[in-house]
Amino acid sequence: MLEALRSVVQEVGTAPDLGAALTTTVDRVREVMATEVCSVYLLDDKRGRYVFRATQGLNQQVVGKVSLGPGEGLVGYVAERAEPVNVESVTEHPRNQYIAEIGEDAFNAFLGVPIIHQGQTLGVLVVQQRDKRRFDESEEAFLVTLSAQLAGLIAHAKATGHLAVKRRKSSKTFSGKPGAPGVARGVAIVIYPTVDLKQVPFRKVRNVAREVDRFTASVAETRSEIKIIAEKMADDVKEDTLGLFDAYLMMLDDTAIPKEVITRIKQGQWAQGALKQTIEAHLARFELMSDSYLRERANDLKELGNRLLSHLEKRNRRKLHFPKDSILVGDDLSLSDLASVPRERLKGIVCGRGSVNSHLAILAEALGVPTVMGVQDLPMPLIDGGEIIVDGFQGLIVTAPTATQKRQYLKLADEEEALTRDLEALAPLSCKTPDGHRTRLWVNTGLFTDVAKSLDRGAEGVGLYRTEIHYMMSETFPTEEAQRQIYREHLQAFSPRPVTMRTLDIGGDKSLSYFPIREDNPFLGWRGIRVSLDHPEIFIAQIRAMIRASEGIDCYLRIMLPMVSSVTEVNKAKQLVDQCFREVEEEGAKVQRPDLGVMIEVPAAVFQAESILERVDFLSVGSNDLVQYMLAVDRNNTQVASLYQEFHPAVLRALKHVADVALRAGKGFGICGEMAGNPGAALLLMAMGYPVLSMNSPNLLLVKKALTSFPMSDAEQLLTDVLALDSAQAVKQATDQALAEAGLSQLIRVRR
Ligand code: PEP
Ligand code: MG
Repeated sequence: MLEALRSVVQEVGTAPDLGAALTTTVDRVREVMATEVCSVYLLDDKRGRYVFRATQGLNQQVVGKVSLGPGEGLVGYVAERAEPVNVESVTEHPRNQYIAEIGEDAFNAFLGVPIIHQGQTLGVLVVQQRDKRRFDESEEAFLVTLSAQLAGLIAHAKATGHLAVKRRKSSKTFSGKPGAPGVARGVAIVIYPTVDLKQVPFRKVRNVAREVDRFTASVAETRSEIKIIAEKMADDVKEDTLGLFDAYLMMLDDTAIPKEVITRIKQGQWAQGALKQTIEAHLARFELMSDSYLRERANDLKELGNRLLSHLEKRNRRKLHFPKDSILVGDDLSLSDLASVPRERLKGIVCGRGSVNSHLAILAEALGVPTVMGVQDLPMPLIDGGEIIVDGFQGLIVTAPTATQKRQYLKLADEEEALTRDLEALAPLSCKTPDGHRTRLWVNTGLFTDVAKSLDRGAEGVGLYRTEIHYMMSETFPTEEAQRQIYREHLQAFSPRPVTMRTLDIGGDKSLSYFPIREDNPFLGWRGIRVSLDHPEIFIAQIRAMIRASEGIDCYLRIMLPMVSSVTEVNKAKQLVDQCFREVEEEGAKVQRPDLGVMIEVPAAVFQAESILERVDFLSVGSNDLVQYMLAVDRNNTQVASLYQEFHPAVLRALKHVADVALRAGKGFGICGEMAGNPGAALLLMAMGYPVLSMNSPNLLLVKKALTSFPMSDAEQLLTDVLALDSAQAVKQATDQALAEAGLSQLIRVRR
């Protein structure tokens, strides 16, 4: 059964379009289940009806013409219940609905299972038989399992429409998750990993001769590479293994794969795209074979394709041209991809993975670049170079937008600009509630920090300087001196305001190309302070650079430790910081002892806040990680993004606990996670007593607007009310309502 399941899924997965995927499904299911009928009904989103989309065994003539609403007939009944319906004789079932033209009179037994993707019923898969009998348990289990696996493929095929190699001309909307607010229109520039053929975009070329040369040279390089490997391994591996290399060389023969690729290049496709088409066409054939040995060869072909690709990319990688309105698109974009686009040309970002809490989204927001995350079904190869709209408020993107859609989005962008202009008047004012409560608003910095913009918006300090960004842009660990210069510029730019430098926070979704960390569970692994304490040489260089950077400047340096989960880590780090300070002093530098603080990002640190505070000068809540660890929701996982709730009652209690502890101890504290930049959450944090809120600078005036319009006494009452609620939804609703009643509804749609 497992083998049958695998082969059906694989075959459907290689179908070129939705129609073919459905036809393959019904053909193969009917065959492997040895049943007489198999049909698929798919939901037509606009009409809300389940349309008869493919069949083997019933009337093909009415495919696409017959449909059932939810609850109508047995198919509608399956969809309504979202569970299998297994019936011995349909005519005896009360929910049966007779549709003459479909031609099912002769069939008695019926088994229908829902096709569910991400909680949504996309359709119904049905098998039928003449005999009066119940399908047995193993048949039902098979169909349910198959349907669960097919759901993703069908959702993908449905979203991407036809996958023919031509640019999509008609407009289409794809949904993901809001990443950074704002709307943008521009040209999609797809970035893909250089060793993954699957993601190579299709691009047209004019200079065919040049592409052919590039490809021919790559074939020659790949051939000699394979020969060298084969020679090296000749003594160590068996004869038949060496045969594999001969097979590779044969595939690279002028009359084999290269010939086909060159034909496609001559039709105007660039070399990478032509290679992708050729390899995929062969793979589709291989994967249909039932012989497992031959199917294995498909892997060899994939390997060969990727090898050729890497040579093509290495030689003469087409330098990406970024037009002035670039929308950066990729399945898994990194911060370095982000940094590769000149800032003034970057208008929007679309990422296939991640969520609003991924570092990519956080930095995009800091840059004020509208971003959509987790758009899983985007046909990357087809949209490259085409016009696209990014709606970071709703998490939507529109490809090939119509004139009406462009006008709608332009209007939204204008409204946003008007709101920003109105708020600018608040910049020079201090952040005081109408009843006189003062809160400090600081900014988070790190990537292309726009110091001038932060200061223009009235930033009173830096609550989080993400130092790892420089490490990520570098090709080796930066030297102490290189770091000193960068840190010094930062301190000077914000002088005399406080600047909180966080020590290296890598691991999780932040990696260094020159220091790879491979783990099954990176967010629970070697992250932040754990790495620094295991590599004191790296930590010491960084701390020394920070302290030395402050020499002779009117500044207030604060050093902050990420991902702390025990006092032992605090003790060790503190010892190293003390040692660095002593050393720098002994070397003759005139420096002030920096304040040392700890980020509260792990539940353990929440409940040890008191002991931690005894050892350091301040605490700063990193709510991005704290929410992830309290709720056990990976901040990067699109699938569970809706469970990532910063208004969760457990999170609010943790935040209140930290505030109470710090207020009792009379020490400095604040928050620097994204929550601080959310106007509704900021009201609650202020009411808890947080004296410092640090956020991405584009949010600063929105938060200031909320806090300066809302009396502290009202915020305290709101906090008391929401602490009595037991769900994130209820808290969010109460907070939104309070904002609306204060005439601040325009602040509600911003983030989460
Ligand atoms: C946090 O976790 O809230 C935080 C500010 O750090 P980062 O987002 O960089 O992990
Ligand atoms: Mg963090």
